[in-house]
Amino acid sequence: MKAMVLKEYNRFMEMVEVEKPTIGENDILIQVKACGICHTDLKIFRGEIPPPIVTLPHIPGHEVAGEVVEIGDKVTGIQKGDAGILYLYIACRNCEWCLSGHENLCPSLKRVGFELPGGYAQFVRVPSYAFCPFDRRLPFNEMAILPDAVATAYRAITTLADVKLGQKILIVGAGGLGIHGVQIAKLCGARVLVAEKKKKALDLAGQFGADFLIDAGKNPSDQIREITKGRGVDAVIEFVGSKETLSWSLPSLKKGGKLIVVGYAPGQPFPLDTMAMHYNEWEIKGARLSTKAELQQVIRLVEEKKLKPVVSKTFPFEKANDALQALQQEDTVGRLVLIF
Ligand SMILES: [Zn+2]
Ligand SMILES: [Zn+2]
Repeated sequence: MKAMVLKEYNRFMEMVEVEKPTIGENDILIQVKACGICHTDLKIFRGEIPPPIVTLPHIPGHEVAGEVVEIGDKVTGIQKGDAGILYLYIACRNCEWCLSGHENLCPSLKRVGFELPGGYAQFVRVPSYAFCPFDRRLPFNEMAILPDAVATAYRAITTLADVKLGQKILIVGAGGLGIHGVQIAKLCGARVLVAEKKKKALDLAGQFGADFLIDAGKNPSDQIREITKGRGVDAVIEFVGSKETLSWSLPSLKKGGKLIVVGYAPGQPFPLDTMAMHYNEWEIKGARLSTKAELQQVIRLVEEKKLKPVVSKTFPFEKANDALQALQQEDTVGRLVLIF
């Protein structure tokens, strides 16, 4: 099969012929129809997610949509030709975290497109457990981005921030994840503030229902204070997670508010003002992908047209390098997707 292989960091991937995976009795083989391109793929490309997580040569791609073409002997409930997406965290399903509904935290986790070969290839092998079917009338290129760009935002806003009707929520970063965060926070009945530097991305957030658009390059603290009449927001969903954004996003919380950290900057820790934490009883939680159950809920929301996956551009599979370059450029909004 053909695959885009990263052989050296910061060097273009090469399209090469690699062996098509053979499946075990509990596996399925997916023919990839579309694969989302995540900012994390850029981190992988630059070598910021080194071994033992990502070892070279590597096939990236963790937002996979496709069709089942082979089924292991012990697999039940899945047919050849089924359309679906992959829950990319392959967990043990037997540890304390897996058994308490936190398989996203399983210590022996292996991830499609990280420790395991990803979807920048014609075929991907996974345990059948990873397969999440969807109504095949829906487009593969939109469904591909659900496993990370949509489901991660869904977990952060519903499960972790527990956003309630009428609350004011600040979304930091209206990129591939944030634009879905806006939609989900609106579905929860929140008033949504979005802070973003890129004008195009901010405008797009407005089109998807954001109530207040804040230019993150122009003293966002003042703008947030004015909008909330000095009270602060109930929750901040940090899709950027840099020192720079955290320096104003955390203090924009009201007393007792919650900060959910989704995005991260490797090797750049943020200094915490413990006195402010004490006086304000702020809560900080990390957010990591979603559970499979949350991904299934997201699929239903998209099938019911309550949520729209935002794909701004598609690239043919063999143009994956161009797609990664486009993602690095300032004017990219929404999610980019490779199609086959
Ligand atoms: Zn990702
Ligand atoms: Zn486990």
